[in-house]
Amino acid sequence: MSAAPATPLYSSPPLSKMDDPTTLVSSKSEPSASAINPELASAANPTFSQGLQTVREPDSEDNIFVAAQRGDVDALRSLIESGKAKATDRDSQNITPLHWAAINAQVAACRFLLSQGAEVDALGGDLVATPLQWAARNGYLYVIHLLIAHNADPNIADAQGYNTLHLVTHSSNVMPLLYLLHQPINVDSRDSQGHTSLMWAAYQGDALSVDLLLRHGANPNTKDDAGLAPLHWAVVRGNRICIRKLVEAGADLSAKDGEGRTARDMAVELKSLGAWKRALEEGGLTEDGIKKKKPLSERNIKITIFMLPTVFLWLMFMTLTILPWFTGVILAMALFFAMHHIVTRILLDKSNYTDSVTQSPYFAGIIFASMVWVGYAWGSRLLRQTQSHAFTHLIFALTVGLCAYNFFRAISLDPGICPKPASDAELKSIVEELATEGRLNGQTFCIQCMARKPLRSKHCRVCDRCIARHDHHCPWVWNCIGVNNHRQFLLFVFTLVVGIALFDYLTFAYFATLSASIDPARISPSCILPEDLCALTASDTFLVSVACWSTLQLSWTLVLLASQLWQVARQMTTLEVSNLGRYGFMGGRGGASLGQQMGHQHHQHSPSDEGGAGGAHGHNHKHSCCGGGGFIMNLLGFDRFTKGKAADGLARAAKAPNPFDLGVLGNCKDFWTSGRELGVEYERLYDVPPEGFLEAKRRREEGEDGGGGGGRKSLRKSLLMGIGLGRSGSSRGGYEPLSQV
Ligand SMILES: [Zn+2]
Ligand SMILES: [Zn+2]
Repeated sequence: MSAAPATPLYSSPPLSKMDDPTTLVSSKSEPSASAINPELASAANPTFSQGLQTVREPDSEDNIFVAAQRGDVDALRSLIESGKAKATDRDSQNITPLHWAAINAQVAACRFLLSQGAEVDALGGDLVATPLQWAARNGYLYVIHLLIAHNADPNIADAQGYNTLHLVTHSSNVMPLLYLLHQPINVDSRDSQGHTSLMWAAYQGDALSVDLLLRHGANPNTKDDAGLAPLHWAVVRGNRICIRKLVEAGADLSAKDGEGRTARDMAVELKSLGAWKRALEEGGLTEDGIKKKKPLSERNIKITIFMLPTVFLWLMFMTLTILPWFTGVILAMALFFAMHHIVTRILLDKSNYTDSVTQSPYFAGIIFASMVWVGYAWGSRLLRQTQSHAFTHLIFALTVGLCAYNFFRAISLDPGICPKPASDAELKSIVEELATEGRLNGQTFCIQCMARKPLRSKHCRVCDRCIARHDHHCPWVWNCIGVNNHRQFLLFVFTLVVGIALFDYLTFAYFATLSASIDPARISPSCILPEDLCALTASDTFLVSVACWSTLQLSWTLVLLASQLWQVARQMTTLEVSNLGRYGFMGGRGGASLGQQMGHQHHQHSPSDEGGAGGAHGHNHKHSCCGGGGFIMNLLGFDRFTKGKAADGLARAAKAPNPFDLGVLGNCKDFWTSGRELGVEYERLYDVPPEGFLEAKRRREEGEDGGGGGGRKSLRKSLLMGIGLGRSGSSRGGYEPLSQV
């Protein structure tokens, strides 16, 4: 990867022209050299060291450069106070102590040096760069933040022509890039070869950076000195998501480079045509960039997909009724696959199969169809034949009614969409605030939504929104399960289980009354079942098929119900349970994973094809599961037991304090009041109050009772804000910066 621009090193001669892309083919599959180990990149990690970043002078004892590099503030202080050194000293390469502190992520040392008069925009080293640029190359957010707060100029370019924005893009760190995009710097600024940051991000295959730059107004149609547009550079890396983002942002597919090649020509040349095709397909275009025609409008497709299972289930049940069992079963299965084929291949016609199916109402349609035919079988047969079970019929009718009602409520309710900032200024203040607090990371900020991320929320890639107290995205109800529809969902699952059990019971009673009048002549000679069962089946195959089908649904609903009830009692969401093994406990402050949650976590994303929305938050387990087995496991809700180290995580969860835990009773109360027991509004819950939720709630209520003076009111206000519960004008309450610096 000789020409790779992603490895800017300090002592190396100025490198990284983006060479003629055709020479880079071989480097395409190599892992990006910019993928810094997040642990190493941790700004707080003192063990970070690279040979290049150490000072070469041997007498390190009283050397201000060594002290700055180590972040030894005491040593710096004694050196400066004793007059042995000054903050403005320069070493043999014209490098200042501030440079050394900045490149080693020594925020405290940087702060001290600046207070001692270090020059913030000092130029030094082989590349004649500023400390800000040294920090930017490694994506050290908090150093960058500190230097910019001290008026460092991000527009200065080094000897290679890179300004701070280019260098942060090279670092592949999203959060520093986000922060810098809110500073006064031109997003389309060019380096000495005319490359914009967008081209670099596309070349590096950093889909998130590409997305971020485009959202901040980067032009997808600029050309560098060789005539290459960002789309050409995305093709060089062959990252499908980068290509798609650029195309969706309006990149010109017919733009030609200096040698007359379009991006597609280049894809052919570089053998990345597969990624190109898939990217365009996902963007709803043909290979040549023409908008694909769909057989129906979006809305009609959805309606068709929703209704199709009702028709097909009827066909399947009728097939089983009419035909002998051996041909009937085969034909019914064929019908099922035909339905699946029509939905996935004809109506959806997408290449990324699992995602588009989850986005469609297909599974909800299957639930609806099952309800319809269970209802029909009940009304047409059971109700009339088993009148002695009047009470059971009444309960069954009630259960089905409740089930259907909660099913549609779970589908139609907003699951708890988290608010987005209303203006750019508000967004800027959020970014600034989080950076100042030292916790601008994927846990507190959602890059896709460009909004603050409440505790316990998650960005759902299917819905493309952050959902408060996110449980999981449920394709069966065609919606996310979040704080607002979780209760309806649980009621739906509960009534479904009870309803199926009652239906089975009534079916049994029906056949019990029937058994006397069975005609032995109807028993098929090929039947493999015991004789009387066979006769029953033959007497009403439709009912038997419906009962078998609905009983089949008991398997997953029972597992789901049990795990949901357990989670409610433990005050945990499915997401939290499945992530326990990997990320410690909960979204709150409690527990052993404090450092991970609040630490200076730098965001990495994989340069590979998978590094799209799903990999956006390095900490989120991927809900996309590829391959049939995983998909089924995911649908049935078993995946949390098979994925990762869930068991290990559960063991740890038993010990880790959960700041939301109120005990079984309190947890259930909190669940059914969607947060009132804790006194929180999950859509705007950004912090765990240091005194705990209950104490905060008690104090707030006390404040209300007292109706006290100004001091009290402001205390209450700050408390309310702390837990995101501003009363008046509460819509934006949680966004007020808590501490302005
Ligand atoms: Zn989001
Ligand atoms: Zn969702």
